[in-house]
Amino acid sequence: MVELRSYLCGQWSAGTGARQMLVNPATEAPLASASTEGLDLGAALEHARAQGGPALRALSFAERGALLKGVADAMQDARDELIGLGISNGGNTRSDAKFDVDGAIATLLAYAETGTSLGAQKFLPDGEGIQLGRSPRFHGQHVLTPRRGVAVHVNAFNFPAWGFAEKAAVALLAGMPVLSKPATSSAMLAHRIAELIVEQKLLPEGALSLLVGAPRDLIERLGAQDVLAFTGSGDTGERIRALPSVIRNSVRVNVEADSLNAAVLGPDAEPRGDMYELFLKELVRDITQKAGQKCTAIRRIIVPAAVAQEVKSDLAELLAVVKVGDPADEETRMGPLATASQLADARAGVERLGGKVAFGGTGRVLEKGFFISPVLIEEPGAAVHEHEVFGPIASLIAYTEGPAAIVTRGNGGLVCSIYSEDQAFLDETVAEVAPFHGRIYLGHPKVELSPGPGTVLPQLVHGGPGKAGGGEELGGPRGLAFYLQRTALEGARPVIAKITGIKA
Ligand code: NAP
Repeated sequence: MVELRSYLCGQWSAGTGARQMLVNPATEAPLASASTEGLDLGAALEHARAQGGPALRALSFAERGALLKGVADAMQDARDELIGLGISNGGNTRSDAKFDVDGAIATLLAYAETGTSLGAQKFLPDGEGIQLGRSPRFHGQHVLTPRRGVAVHVNAFNFPAWGFAEKAAVALLAGMPVLSKPATSSAMLAHRIAELIVEQKLLPEGALSLLVGAPRDLIERLGAQDVLAFTGSGDTGERIRALPSVIRNSVRVNVEADSLNAAVLGPDAEPRGDMYELFLKELVRDITQKAGQKCTAIRRIIVPAAVAQEVKSDLAELLAVVKVGDPADEETRMGPLATASQLADARAGVERLGGKVAFGGTGRVLEKGFFISPVLIEEPGAAVHEHEVFGPIASLIAYTEGPAAIVTRGNGGLVCSIYSEDQAFLDETVAEVAPFHGRIYLGHPKVELSPGPGTVLPQLVHGGPGKAGGGEELGGPRGLAFYLQRTALEGARPVIAKITGIKA
């Protein structure tokens, strides 16, 4: 069995004491173990601050972008091996594992390009310069500079490659060293990526640290120049945010948490029409991809009452042909949940949602493994607007009036998708739901090769208000701001221009 070590202070170290087991979720066979006991987390953070930060800040944006390209290339070379780890340790089908690994590579490459376009600027301007007095000499300019601490990244289990890369790419490009903590249960993939980076010396010393296993008091050790980007459950996010040391030190925190994403079918979308078919296709993909363990997965399907029965039977028919099984088998279309506790949570979650089970159920699917069938619920209880069930489970809700009032009961989400060509309906629904969402996906049958609402693109922001954690990541160059301090420079225009190199 593999012993996963952490990469801290420029070396691989194994913790002592009790070890956490990582298993294959399809067979329950043990694959690896990890422990962080006895590791000096304070020294690890200090090493990153003292070595990684200065090394990265000595490079231009373009040079840091080139480092990201190197990491992407190394992952591309090891793609098959990485996909294999996604299948064995993540319970991903091959297609799901590709989604994770290729998404990671694409995000690294997108930020490598952003680095090229930002070039050799030392101070990143934030907006135009501002004339502050009667004379243009008295001038103001907002600038952004890298924070001097460590970017600590705590990731969820569901995207071990993409989660690692989407956060690391932005922080490294901004000039901050990264300490990444993958979720323990699926950490083999992030661990292998870190090994590739270290083996091939793709980043300067101290620019990347990896902690595999329990975080212990890592977060309590963060200071005012450090930042924390967390992805995981709302409960953990709440605990981390409320830590007295986090509050005392004003640690900048970004939380990506639960989300009750909704897909809305417009009143104009006729059954069998192109829009309706697109809606069904994207629903099935979203419910079953990664066995529904996506923060962006559709949890609430909101349809006109007049077509609710038709949607239900069409969806049930499509879900019935999704083959659930061992992801190592080529025929399999949906793998297991990641852990035994995720399976228990999903089963309990279906109970909690109430309503009627219109398709599937929570019974045992195979002798071994953490499998569950896709589940479609109709007429769910109020819990559907409060509780995210992290699995292949979605609820059908019929509307007669405008659907926005139902969507916004979710108290903030990552993505709401709307399928309609009725301009008045779109105008009203988008305006109503936008303040509650980080992203709105407008389904349209003529948009070719759209990856659907469940795919997060590096060019667009990812995050959402309220229940979704209130965070924001990615969004092209926008994402850099989290890792940079905004400072207003106020003084004589030529002096500011000389310091910053920004032409007024
Ligand atoms: P989780 O149990 O909250 O764990 C998330 C991460 O936090 C793991 O790395 C975990 O480490 C770590 N952690 C747990 N307690 C901690 C503490 N006290 N201090 C620091 N770190 C701590 O969530 P999960 O079960 O892995 O992920 C599922 C949830 O994530 C779902 O609710 C989903 O909606 C959400 N999610 C959101 C997004 C998004 O972008 N908005 C993306 C993916 C998932 P261990 O694994 O070692 O316990």
